[in-house]
Amino acid sequence: MSSIVEKQLYKGVVIGNKGVTVSHLQFADDTIFFGEASKDNIGVIKSIMRTSELSSGLKINFGKSQPIGIGVEDNWRNKMAYKLCCKEREIPFKYLGILISRNHRRVAMWQPMVESFLKKLATWKGRHLSLGGRITLINSVLSNLPVFLMSVYLIPKGILYSIDKICRSFLWGGGREKRKINWVNWVKVCKKREEGGLGVRDLRKFKLALMGKWWGCLVENEEGLWKRVVVGKYGEGGGHWLDWIKEYRGVGSIWWRDVCCLDKMDRERARWLMEGFRTKLGDGKSVSFWWDNWNEPGRWNLKWRRKLFEWEPEEARGLQEVIEDKMITHGRPDSLEWVHDKDGQYSTKIAYSILTKEQIGTTDSSTFKRIWNPSFPSKVSAFNWQLLLNKIPTKSNLITRGILRDSGDGKCVLCNEEDEDSTHLFLKCKTTRWVWQECAKW
Ligand SMILES: [Zn+2]
Repeated sequence: MSSIVEKQLYKGVVIGNKGVTVSHLQFADDTIFFGEASKDNIGVIKSIMRTSELSSGLKINFGKSQPIGIGVEDNWRNKMAYKLCCKEREIPFKYLGILISRNHRRVAMWQPMVESFLKKLATWKGRHLSLGGRITLINSVLSNLPVFLMSVYLIPKGILYSIDKICRSFLWGGGREKRKINWVNWVKVCKKREEGGLGVRDLRKFKLALMGKWWGCLVENEEGLWKRVVVGKYGEGGGHWLDWIKEYRGVGSIWWRDVCCLDKMDRERARWLMEGFRTKLGDGKSVSFWWDNWNEPGRWNLKWRRKLFEWEPEEARGLQEVIEDKMITHGRPDSLEWVHDKDGQYSTKIAYSILTKEQIGTTDSSTFKRIWNPSFPSKVSAFNWQLLLNKIPTKSNLITRGILRDSGDGKCVLCNEEDEDSTHLFLKCKTTRWVWQECAKW
């Protein structure tokens, strides 16, 4: 095929000003041809298919081969399908389980995912489970999300909201028709267990970590076809990859705009991607001494053009310390590496842990670690968690939420003497104290 393209017998699709030509792609037992909509090209495809049939002895199933026309008239598409003896296919269509459409932000594209989610977390299942069991089920369903789809397209906010809503109402035992109290804020629920949450996957952060992989491909992979296509379409700009991404924010296809704006989408960590990459010093040609973050081991011998003033040797020593382990290597171009990984490779797992890390360590993690001891039954751990956060349905909590009226029915259910709050009910009440004393005798 490549030699046919070289001899200009077949005209592939030319992308951008740099003339990157894509003529075909092969994956497993699929072959996709890309080309100009012309009679000559159709003739060449037909000949290639016939020749491969004759040479390999394998018969091509023309019923399964489908031509797709983009930006051509219906009439032309019909003719193309007729000539190739195939059935034409229209956009949107599915390939490798992913819907190929003009706009991936459309709700219709993601709706099947929401429906399957709803089916898996059906209300009837939740009714027979403890809080601990419901947490386990939510985590298992969330970990089965179509990660492949989420790493290709940025999942829209509305869809994430729907999924979160299903999870929330399942966690607290509600359903479509019945609303229950959401005792703990969902952001808190999504935190790690040692930080006071339930360790439920935070989809808002997870989608960014998945999509961040494209930045990794762009700066790490030297020769990939995808990169050549993107560079061909949007141009390489002014040398530095990250500057190039900045320059193209708000320009291009919906998908490309999403990719360029990834590090602005996390409110708590603006520039999480920009600052995650640093320049690996090669020949130093594309690195700015003052503005780039660069690093490579070596030795420097600084020579000054004049005698240093009295206050300057200290500053010079500081500079020497900063650049001490950094050196230029001739013959190797500068590159970018992911600072959070020892091999410099972008990793979704590390990116997610960076995005979800609590910025100010205000939580006493040792208490929460003790609660989630693996030898405890999950329902006990889950209840302890709720109790520690004072998010259980005591009368005083129900009054605060306006469910009980404060007309004297806030008294403790055991002693009917004092207000029923968590501390009273589990520690201070005389009946509770007696229970604890009896337990201590065991
Ligand atoms: Zn009491």
